[in-house]
Order: sequence, then structure tokens, then C-alpha cells
Amino acid sequence: MEMEPVIGLEIHAQLNTRTKLFCACPTEFGAPPNTNICEVCTGQPGALPRMNGRALELAAKAGLALGSRVNERSLFSRKNYFYPDLPNGFQTSQLDPPICEGGGLEIAADDGSPKLVRLNRIHMEDDAGKCIHDEARGISLIDLNRAGTPLIEIVTEPDISSAREAVEFLKKLHGLLVRLGVTRGRLEEGEFRCDVNISLKPRGASELGVRGEIKNLNSFRFVGQAIDYEISRQGAVYSSGGKVLQETLHFDSVRGETRSLRSKEEAHDYRYFPQPDLPPAEVSPDLLARLRQELPENPEDALARLLGSGLKEEQARLILERRGALDYFDACVVAGAAAPRAASLMLELFLPFCQKEGVSPLESAFGPDLMARLAGLADSGTLGRRKVQELSERMFREGADPEKLTRDLGLSQISDEGELMGMARRAVAESPAEAAKYRAGQDKILSFFVGRLMKLSGGRAEPRKAGELLRAVLAEIPDGGPGGGADGGEGARP
Ligand SMILES: [Zn+2]
Repeated sequence: MEMEPVIGLEIHAQLNTRTKLFCACPTEFGAPPNTNICEVCTGQPGALPRMNGRALELAAKAGLALGSRVNERSLFSRKNYFYPDLPNGFQTSQLDPPICEGGGLEIAADDGSPKLVRLNRIHMEDDAGKCIHDEARGISLIDLNRAGTPLIEIVTEPDISSAREAVEFLKKLHGLLVRLGVTRGRLEEGEFRCDVNISLKPRGASELGVRGEIKNLNSFRFVGQAIDYEISRQGAVYSSGGKVLQETLHFDSVRGETRSLRSKEEAHDYRYFPQPDLPPAEVSPDLLARLRQELPENPEDALARLLGSGLKEEQARLILERRGALDYFDACVVAGAAAPRAASLMLELFLPFCQKEGVSPLESAFGPDLMARLAGLADSGTLGRRKVQELSERMFREGADPEKLTRDLGLSQISDEGELMGMARRAVAESPAEAAKYRAGQDKILSFFVGRLMKLSGGRAEPRKAGELLRAVLAEIPDGGPGGGADGGEGARP
């Protein structure tokens, strides 16, 4: 019997706040144990929690960006369980209603078609502390610095069908939340981690199989490996006629396999009850409207907009990929640059320079207004391609004004026809043998004359116009003979 995997994810993202969810302790990572704690986050009797307003805004913003319904009022509950690193004896979380419900994120399915992974909900909760097991001394220690750190938990519907889809979803979600500033998203510090629910069912069946829950994966690679391992493990259990148990699993990344942590045979009862110490979390319509305005454009809309402004698809994609590039590009256009020119200067010269120097585009000394003026000099033909290239490094490094630099260095391109015509005549007159060859039909000689003319102009002639004028001069009948032009003939002898 062919089986298909059914996968749902629960993602914990640490909200990007300076202080904890219900007290003023810093959320900073790596402080000495038990230094960022107070009576609230260590669960002292009588200490009262106070809601962190920024955490609430960030949670609502995540919901808006993911197309969820943001509830005007959501409630905190106590989720009761005992664990040594949970000083209150309960986690403060949200059961009903959570801050956000519904929504989703589109990915490419395994067959390449677009697929919406629906969200069930997003709720807020506080993190637990950490147990540190000191095996040498045979003791366990508890660090409560992390206790009370604000999290959102994003719960998907079981819409995912493979490890690849899960990883794509997570990368996309991670990118979106980091771009929004909802989380810093540092995986190695556990700021973005994921539980995977996974079961197999006969292909096409509507009833779900018994699922395993793989806990706390904090790398995209491990998510992929853990899912692939679990699909084959459960598949093997079914094909040998066994029963898959409902259990909580740990992924051992060294051995590349999942291990059972505990059985979940009995449905757990956390005895949720309303947290009496906290009022409902409120997101007013005004706040929601403000948050909506702060949302960045979603990537699909941004791509369409860039294509609409005359960029090639590859240019648009490159600009969207590079962090800070879209903001810089938009600022250039606002400052008056033509979009295609701004894009090509950015991609060919400016972004490679930023990358080499390790600066983000908007932090560079070469601001969008200067870029717009450089684009103008290129568009008007004042500066040729080579000159732009020659100047660019100096401009980017020093934030030098491109117009002033062009004047000071006498670099402006010569496009004046009279001036160029004089040079074209001189170039032709100085090389009669080559002129004869051209007139005898060797068209390629034209580039020789363009080179001569460029030299006469000190590299400042506009190449296209120079070529045109040279062609006209060479087509003229030379002194001492009839004919001329590319069809040559006898007159080609000077
Ligand atoms: Zn505290």
C-alpha cells in the first residue's frame, strides 16, 4: 500500500524585544546565568506580570503579514505543567482566543505548482528557563535568564507533504519574519525553532494516521533530515504490520535518527485556565492600521512593480534578493533616476562594491541622491560606460559628487558633432592605407578608426556617435579618385 506523509509544523519565534514578555528584564543572550531575572520571571509569590506592548505589536504584525485575522482582544491562559525550569509551575500562553487566527503562506509544492500552507493560529507565550546538566559533578543546574522571553508560536494546518516542502516553508517564513523585524531569527541561539508533527496515511485516504512529534529542531537541515528519517521509519513499521505509536521524539543530529522521548498515549491535560493576573491583550483598530502601514511590500508585489518600471526579470530578482537593495533602488528612483539605469548601475557596480566592502547599500557613503545624479550623467551621454566604471570606486568610497568629479577630471564625454567630426577627419587622414582597405570592403577596419578617434579625444568621445561620423567620413570620395564606400572598387586607392 502506498503511503503519503502528512506534516504540520509548530514554529516558535522569539520576538525581537529588548525586554521580556511580562517584566523589564533584558532578553539578551549569553549573560551569566541567573543575572537577567526578577521576581516576576522567577515566579515569586505575589509578583504581578505586566504585558510588553512591543511584543504584542510584533505578534500582530506577523499575523498581518501572513494574512491572519488579528483579534482585537485575545486572552492569556495558564498552561499548567511541572518542569524544573518553569518557576511558575505554568506557562503563560494563549488558548482561546489567540492573537491571530487563520492565514497562510504560499510555497512551491513538490510538483512545482503553488501551494498554500494554511495557518491554524498564532499565539503568544513566554519561554521557559534552561536546565544545564553537569554530568561531571552529577548535578543539574537551572538558568532562568531565558524564562519569560516573548515567543510567538505559529501553528500550521497539516498541509505539508515532504521534507522539501517543510524546509521551503520554514525558510520563507523565517525570511519574512526577519525582514519584518518580528524576530532576529538567529537559529543557533534558538530564536527560531520548530516542532514537526508527522504521520503517514494510505494515499488518498481522508483519515490521518497516528503521528509522531519531533521536538525542538533549530536548523533547516535537521528539519529535512528528521522528516525523511521519520517517513522511512514509520513506513517500515507499517509495512512490517506494526503499529506506529503516538509519541514525542527527539532528533539525534549526530546519528541522523529520531528517538522516543516519551509516549503520548494519554492525551495531555494542561488544565488551561484564564490567567487572572493579566487583562486581555488589546490590538485597537488604530494600532492595526498603523501596523498595516508599516508592513513592507510582499515579494510578489515588489517583483511586479519592478517589472512594471522597466526592469528585466533577472535585474528585478537580483535587487529583491539583496538585503537593502530594494530600499536603495526605490530611493534612487525617488531622487530622479530612471529605473532601468539605476538598476544596471546598482547591479554592475554598486552592489558588488558594497558586498566587497561589507556595507549595506543604505549605509554606504554613496547615497541614492548621488546615484541618481550619476545615472543622469550616464543617461544624458555626458559620461560613457567606461568612464562611469572608472569613477565608480572613488565615488562609492568617498561619496564624491559625480558631477564635480567629472568636471574636475575633465571626463565628460564629447558628443558635440562638430568637435567629433574634426577628429574623425583627422583619424581618417592620418591612416590612408586603412581607409583604402575599408573602402575596399573591409568593414571591420572601422573599429580601428574608432580606436584612433578615442585616442585623439582622450577616451572621451561618445563611441556610437564616433562610429557614425567615421562611417560618413570614410564614405566620402577621397581626393584623387572616384568611388568610395563599402562596395569599394577602383577608387579605393588613395
Ligand atoms: Zn524578570
